[in-house]
Amino acid sequence: MSQVPQSVPYSTTNAGIPVESDEHSLTVGSNGPILLQDHYLIEKMAQFNRERVPERVVHAKGSGAYGFLEITNDVSQFTKADLFQPGKRTEMLARFSTVAGELGSPDTWRDPRGFALKFYTEHGNYDLVGNNTPVFFVRDPMKFQDFIRSQKRHPVTGLRNNDMQWDFWTLSPESAHQVTWLMGDRGIPRTYRHMNGYSSHTYMWVNAGGERFWVKYHIKTDQGIEFLTQAEADDLAGRDADVHRRDLYEAIERGEHPSWTVHVQVMPFDDAPDYRFNPFDLTKVWPHGDYPLIEVGRMTLDKNPPDHFVHIEQAAFEPSNMVPGIGPSPDKMLLGRLFSYPDTHRYRIGPNYTQLPPNRPRSQVHSYAKDGPMRYKPADTAMPYAPNSYGGPAAAVTQFGDVAGWRTAGEMVREAYRLHREDDDFGQAGTQVRQVLDDAARDRLVSNVTGHLRQGVSRPVLDRALQYWRNIDKELGDRIAKNVNGM
Ligand code: NDP
Repeated sequence: MSQVPQSVPYSTTNAGIPVESDEHSLTVGSNGPILLQDHYLIEKMAQFNRERVPERVVHAKGSGAYGFLEITNDVSQFTKADLFQPGKRTEMLARFSTVAGELGSPDTWRDPRGFALKFYTEHGNYDLVGNNTPVFFVRDPMKFQDFIRSQKRHPVTGLRNNDMQWDFWTLSPESAHQVTWLMGDRGIPRTYRHMNGYSSHTYMWVNAGGERFWVKYHIKTDQGIEFLTQAEADDLAGRDADVHRRDLYEAIERGEHPSWTVHVQVMPFDDAPDYRFNPFDLTKVWPHGDYPLIEVGRMTLDKNPPDHFVHIEQAAFEPSNMVPGIGPSPDKMLLGRLFSYPDTHRYRIGPNYTQLPPNRPRSQVHSYAKDGPMRYKPADTAMPYAPNSYGGPAAAVTQFGDVAGWRTAGEMVREAYRLHREDDDFGQAGTQVRQVLDDAARDRLVSNVTGHLRQGVSRPVLDRALQYWRNIDKELGDRIAKNVNGM
């Protein structure tokens, strides 16, 4: 064995056995064959071949940090969830991401951003898996896979392809609101610290008396909203593909801990059927004038994880993690995600992913799950089945209350949501263009859309895209058409 300096530990195999060399494989003579008994060499090669887990199909490139949520207001009249009770402080993990790009893709590509939060509550993990936009491109999980494939790479060329994107969007007019966000300033945040997060979905809150409410979360950056222009983003994509990851990490290291103020919109349970928009349609917001924001608390990120792969790549967020006091709504996209997120984690990192450090509940776990690949924590149930008469855990129905649900009946159908008064696809996008954006923001929107349409979008998709923008706002569409057609 070579002489190891006193100051560093000696290197070992994965089994802790001191290795003979860090640099030389074991051969017969200096030019001879490598010996199969060089277990350490073989271990190194084999381990290396297995260093990756499959990257996420969506939200592959992400960055994150640990922090805490502090409740600053009293919203106990709306929910009994322990993390939202007055004065409560709950440890948490956040992961921000782009959506369509791969693991090494630039942080500054135009794309919505994932805004995934995991709160380690007294009653298990609560995951709020949102975006930096309050709406989404589709409203039915049947279309999600198709939507994502249209945003990813062309099957023949392996290139991103704007023609596929606009083909899908123009054939799916429910995308108009989200595409307006995407093509505007909010489509490229300056950093992860300078963007809002939204639940986008509607959830149910249940208070201690069993009263139910519909809620949407708005998590507003305390750093202020800032964005990159297309030119700035293109430049950064070439110079520093990891600029948002770097910014988040370095800000926290400097002690500049980013924070967000958490708000909710609360809709009384019985308002839903007659509201002017379908309140469960993921392509719609609830206008602030109808349901004003109510402050809940503040979340702060103050700790970089000690290992990116362990804590961020293996972080497993799932909207299905809802704690007592919180339930789903009839939002079809949410209901689809309740299945697909835990399913992808089982495939990607294995069925015992909840035992890994970022995913491990900080509360007691008395699950009847057992065994499976890479399990290391023994089940603490004396008998592996329920019910049993040997002191095994039993569901605390009376302690945590009834199922957070709603009454429903009807024929089985496959159809869009039944129309509420203002349920058209272009209305809220048009409101954003006309009432929210100022002249300069509208000019940038026209310029961003024009630039995108000029890159490989062919007729008849191009003509449909121009009509799509006229449907959102006639004047805006005419300006884009003039730019694209050069007249
Ligand atoms: P409001 O005037 O009350 O709200 C408009 C909101 O738009 C602002 O509060 C701000 O939300 C957000 N906003 C500001 N600038 C931009 C921008 N450049 N790009 C995108 N969003 C921006 O109107 P309504 O609530 O009636 O909504 C009108 C339109 O505003 C909607 O159709 C929707 O497109 C957009 N909007 C609505 C939200 C909602 O939940 N009601 C949330 C965000 C946008 P914030 O402070 O959250 O950034």
